[in-house]
Amino acid sequence: MPRPICAHIHTAALAANLGRARRAAPDARVWAVVKANAYGHGIERVFEALRAADGFALLDLAEAERVRHLGWRGPILLLEGVFEPRDLELCSRLSLWHAVHCDEQIDMLAAHKTQAPQRVFLKLNSGMNRLGFAPARYRSAWARLNALTQVDEISHMTHFSDADGPRGIAEQWQAFCAATQDLPGERSVCNSAAILRHAGDARVRGDWVRAGIALYGSAPDFPEHSAATWELAPTMTLSTRLIGLQHLQAGDSVGYGSRFRAEAPMRIGVAACGYADGYPRHADTGTPVLVEGVRTRLVGRVSMDMVTVDLEPVFAAGLAPGFGAEVTLWGRASGGAVLAIDEVAQAAGTVGYELMCALAPRVPVHQG
Ligand SMILES: *Cc1c(COP(=O)(O)O)cnc(C)c1O
Repeated sequence: MPRPICAHIHTAALAANLGRARRAAPDARVWAVVKANAYGHGIERVFEALRAADGFALLDLAEAERVRHLGWRGPILLLEGVFEPRDLELCSRLSLWHAVHCDEQIDMLAAHKTQAPQRVFLKLNSGMNRLGFAPARYRSAWARLNALTQVDEISHMTHFSDADGPRGIAEQWQAFCAATQDLPGERSVCNSAAILRHAGDARVRGDWVRAGIALYGSAPDFPEHSAATWELAPTMTLSTRLIGLQHLQAGDSVGYGSRFRAEAPMRIGVAACGYADGYPRHADTGTPVLVEGVRTRLVGRVSMDMVTVDLEPVFAAGLAPGFGAEVTLWGRASGGAVLAIDEVAQAAGTVGYELMCALAPRVPVHQG
């Protein structure tokens, strides 16, 4: 018998979240961002649910090959573009579109021998200062690309640093408008946060939006908004079972470092999930968890293969959780109760993105 832990990928929720992104950005085409193995969900597992997207966006050429292998003939965009000259051969062979964010990538294109000119997304650094041409250099980069026979259509893109927060997108949006003014080509600027918060403006949503985390049912601006208030459904459930119970007396401690001490007699459960499964070790006492669908909390330190949970709220709800009781670390309990991954992430000092991506290979994954 394998350990009782498993992850479920909810196909219908992925499709519904894609629909939600479309409603937030009407008339724009939607890239389904499936980098990092579809944010830990598995490209092959999300593909059918997301094939209603207009294209797939990712970083890794091997992942692009997997999407083509699944039969996708539509657009695929490499969000960081190519890393070395021979990547352009794969772009030609698989007809991949690619971002161009630096001179070295233009040099590679200029040296590339191809029959079919390539579609590129020229990237502006509008203030995030990660990838992209500075505004003062953007037009010369465009002119250089435009003169190459290797290049077909040139689109324009940038990436927002604060679409999820109070600083917003105004300054970067202005920089983008100024740099791209009068240049022909399609535009793409919105990630999930911008889709949900700023894409009411048709100019901002542009021709293509790039939906990542929203497709996976996590709110990019938690806790200001929750996934539920954005009408996003959880797409990943991590669940396990109780494999042990302990009765504590006042003063008894739990786990490594005795980080939790009972103030009164209480019952705790030991669940088969630990940091080697991808559960965050920084989740402290108080991190929410569901037992038999009832919300309770972690107590004590997360260890490699186990966590310990307070069972008192579950007994108080009239249940009698014992060996084998269902424990939901995040996602949807079998009775329908939901624990947002964002709440768990917050308690561990991180974001839903990281928890999804960190799901460990040893966790069996089911789909449906
Ligand atoms: C990852 C990524 C996205 C998607 O971001 P989310 O916040 O997950 O929606 C969009 N654009 C670029 C360039 C990215 O790298």
